[in-house]
Amino acid sequence: MAGYYLCGLIRVYAHMYALRYLMIYQTFPTCPLCGAHDSTPYAICSDFMVSKEQYTLLRCPSCGIVYTLDPPDESRIKPYDKIGLDLKLGDAPSGLMSRLYHLSRRRMLKRKARIVREQSYRTGGSLLNFGAGTGFFSHKMEKCGWKVTSVEKYHEKRVFSLEMFHHRMVDLPEMDMFHPESFDVITMWHVFEHCYHPHELLDRFYNLLRPGGVLIVACPNICSTDAMHYGPYWAAYDVPRHLWHFNPSSMCNLAARHGFTLMHHEPLPFDSFYISILSEKQERHRMAFLRGFCIGLHSWAVSLAHRGKSSSLVYVFRKKTNITNEQTQEKRQN
Ligand SMILES: [Zn+2]
Repeated sequence: MAGYYLCGLIRVYAHMYALRYLMIYQTFPTCPLCGAHDSTPYAICSDFMVSKEQYTLLRCPSCGIVYTLDPPDESRIKPYDKIGLDLKLGDAPSGLMSRLYHLSRRRMLKRKARIVREQSYRTGGSLLNFGAGTGFFSHKMEKCGWKVTSVEKYHEKRVFSLEMFHHRMVDLPEMDMFHPESFDVITMWHVFEHCYHPHELLDRFYNLLRPGGVLIVACPNICSTDAMHYGPYWAAYDVPRHLWHFNPSSMCNLAARHGFTLMHHEPLPFDSFYISILSEKQERHRMAFLRGFCIGLHSWAVSLAHRGKSSSLVYVFRKKTNITNEQTQEKRQN
């Protein structure tokens, strides 16, 4: 037991010294979101899932964003994305973990549908699901009576959705065909942190939403209790697939620059458990499931009183409609 804690302590100090070394001896590029010059090292994380490569995370004190330094280019990211795993999760359940995953997904889909209904004040309408993955949410919303348009960049997932749900998804370039102000709701469930061009995307969403429409974004939260507990081993850093690492403040700042006002935010409770168990597995701890469950339970309990401490958050933004000409100009320059 003493050896275990000693190893943990050595790892914490090694990580701190590595960050200090970077701070003293390395210069960093400007912040990709706001252009400020004074980014500082935040963490050094490994890609446990695929490549085992290490990536440095930087924090910009100006806009508050934490970002992955030098991720693979957009044209080279596909081998890092866990497409096979996502497709496998669409299969019928087998084994305890798989059954638990399917159960939690069903509950999450219900919760997401409830958020859309309550926050848009609608029981139907036109919905754009950006980064639709294998199409479970799109299918759920179609069953609830919504007219759903799904955008997914990977061919394999578009084929899965067509075969499984007979729901045709479109590729990114086809978004150019969409008419302005044609959607009541736009959703991104754990997608925004993967996007290479967040400014362009938010501008595009602003134009696609009808006046008063809502943009719903779910992202991991780097200020969560479980993120603090696991440090660089927190599974939701998920480098290099996650390019941006948000907290409530950095997310709202970014959205506000593109004409969106925060109306509501709430936790996705299963993520506390899922991310904690995955983090324990990445650290190769014994009894990873039990330990992760306990940390996840603690994180979830804290989030009941402090939503900003939740493992991941759903942000509901409403499109501002009284933007002046000057603000529109400023938004374009961003
Ligand atoms: Zn910045």
